[in-house]
Amino acid sequence: MIIFNFHHVEPIPSHSDRKMITITPEGFKRFIQILRSLNFKIISFRDVLEAGGPQDIKGNTALITFDDGFENNFRYAAPILEEEKCPATFFVLPGKFGGTNDWDHGDKAISERDKLMTLAQMRVMANSKYITFGSHGMYHRHLPTLGETEIFREVRRSYSILSRELGKSFVPVFAYPWGEYSEAVKAKLQRSPYKYAMTTEKRPWTLADDPYEIPRYSAYFRDGNPLVLLGKLCRHQILFG
Ligand SMILES: [Zn+2]
Repeated sequence: MIIFNFHHVEPIPSHSDRKMITITPEGFKRFIQILRSLNFKIISFRDVLEAGGPQDIKGNTALITFDDGFENNFRYAAPILEEEKCPATFFVLPGKFGGTNDWDHGDKAISERDKLMTLAQMRVMANSKYITFGSHGMYHRHLPTLGETEIFREVRRSYSILSRELGKSFVPVFAYPWGEYSEAVKAKLQRSPYKYAMTTEKRPWTLADDPYEIPRYSAYFRDGNPLVLLGKLCRHQILFG
């Protein structure tokens, strides 16, 4: 099983630092269609949870995820997912609803592109049977640098807010900010209601993986071209190994 991780979806790839983590709406749509034409079944975390784990999921499967919850996800990704009847999970930050990605920019002036979704927008998306939400923590902090109490807050508070506010569209899955975790962070997750936590290690998810160290491919498509990544995965026999 392969998990892909996206960030921004917008028509014009923005300034250079952003280009690496942006895909155009057309590119995203093509990505879904190509994956499917390669006989990949795109499933949701709900399917994995209902199956009781990846062991009972057969065939070539992929999961699509988005980190941070940018407003452009609401505007561009959600309608494509609906149109393509394609499941995806959005990892969002309850402490930043309707805010900006200030963890990247600090006090620097921000643009429209840095806006994060509001809770109202997420609730609209939650009406779709294809969309689920997971936790990316409360404030996008470097978890391994935090003390016990703060880690607890990032993990548990985000869980209670998201499960309360997004109800059935919330899945108990966590995505570590920047993919960073430590034994202490992992221990908190293991003793929480979350069933899985994801890193940013780029390789397929196998049965041997620790449920709190699930790898996924950052979908950093150079020039917004999804074929680059898919081509690479085929070449390395990851898609057809
Ligand atoms: Zn993030």
